[in-house]
Amino acid sequence: MSTRIPLLDLNPQVNSIWDEITGSIQDVIRSGQFIMGPNVKAFEEETAAYLGVKHAIGVNSGTDALFIALRALGIGPGDEVITTPFTFFATGEAISAVGADPVFVDVNPATFNLDSDLAEAAITPRTKAILPVHLYGQPADMRGIVALAKGHGLKVVEDVAQGFGGECLMDDGWMKLGAIGDVGCYSFFPTKNLSAMGDAGMIATNDDQAAEIAGMLRVHGSRKKYYNEEIGYNSRLDEIQAAILRKKLPRLDTWNEGRRRVAERYNELLRDIPWVLTPDPVPGTRHVYCVYTVRVLDGKRDQVQKHLAEAGVSTMIYYPVPLHRLPVYSNLGYELSVADRLAGEVLSLPIWPEMSDDLIGAVCESIKAAL
Ligand SMILES: *Cc1c(COP(=O)(O)O)cnc(C)c1O
Repeated sequence: MSTRIPLLDLNPQVNSIWDEITGSIQDVIRSGQFIMGPNVKAFEEETAAYLGVKHAIGVNSGTDALFIALRALGIGPGDEVITTPFTFFATGEAISAVGADPVFVDVNPATFNLDSDLAEAAITPRTKAILPVHLYGQPADMRGIVALAKGHGLKVVEDVAQGFGGECLMDDGWMKLGAIGDVGCYSFFPTKNLSAMGDAGMIATNDDQAAEIAGMLRVHGSRKKYYNEEIGYNSRLDEIQAAILRKKLPRLDTWNEGRRRVAERYNELLRDIPWVLTPDPVPGTRHVYCVYTVRVLDGKRDQVQKHLAEAGVSTMIYYPVPLHRLPVYSNLGYELSVADRLAGEVLSLPIWPEMSDDLIGAVCESIKAAL
């Protein structure tokens, strides 16, 4: 193959809104208001309306959103937070950063997400929260997790870094990811569904008190300037990033629709390969395919990835080492066989909303030719 296929091509998206984006950046530059200006406030309101929550608080990154959310819920030293080992490091890191202990529970191989049936056995008197991740854009089992949390008086913090716009069918109908638990944490890192042109993040909640504390922690623990009440952080959402994100938010659903189209096409074309398992739709959830990840069985993953690389197809392994196997957590002695197995099988293929059928076909042909 002569053309290289990247994992993600942001150019079609940027080209389609070039004038609006560059115009809004210029407006910010001319306004001279670079910190906590009108775009941050407006983007927070627009995001809260989109998600259907009372409060949205812009922060510096998805990682900061996670640890500020945990602190806003009063979680700290001595507390345990149940989470998944099969995620980006920031999920566990945020729990450790507030002084709490992550408790890893194995995942469901069909969704790659925290297995709510296994979570109950991990609850102890020290457990304060459950922190599910909607990995790859596939919603976690929020029905099971919310029921468990309610039954045991636990908080639920959703890591929605890969799931902005995804939904779960709950008792009251379809709900946006991050609006279901007590607090939702979002990342606008450039590879996520709603992407900034730098670092940015958001905290969403219906909890007035958590919103108040989170809003305070992101600006050095002060409600009123120079009257600092807590040891906080400098974790503000940047005004230029907010201006860019405001132009993108109204297009997010269309882009997520585009990702679903690509994923469905892949699912069709790859279905007949016996050593490939595709991420088929899970009833009661709306996947947003931040990444498109298959399982390559029979120990063939690395061979397939090597072949694709030679054919010019970019792929990625999210994640090669589950958190319980990383040096900072391996001493805890966890044995989580599903996460271990998945780490050796997963392979993420190129996906972006505008990806053409020709390119999808080319990737699939390369996969078929790999063995
Ligand atoms: C990207 C990501 C984060 C961290 O977000 P940043 O904005 O990069 O700090 C946290 N959790 C998951 C699952 C992620 O994918």
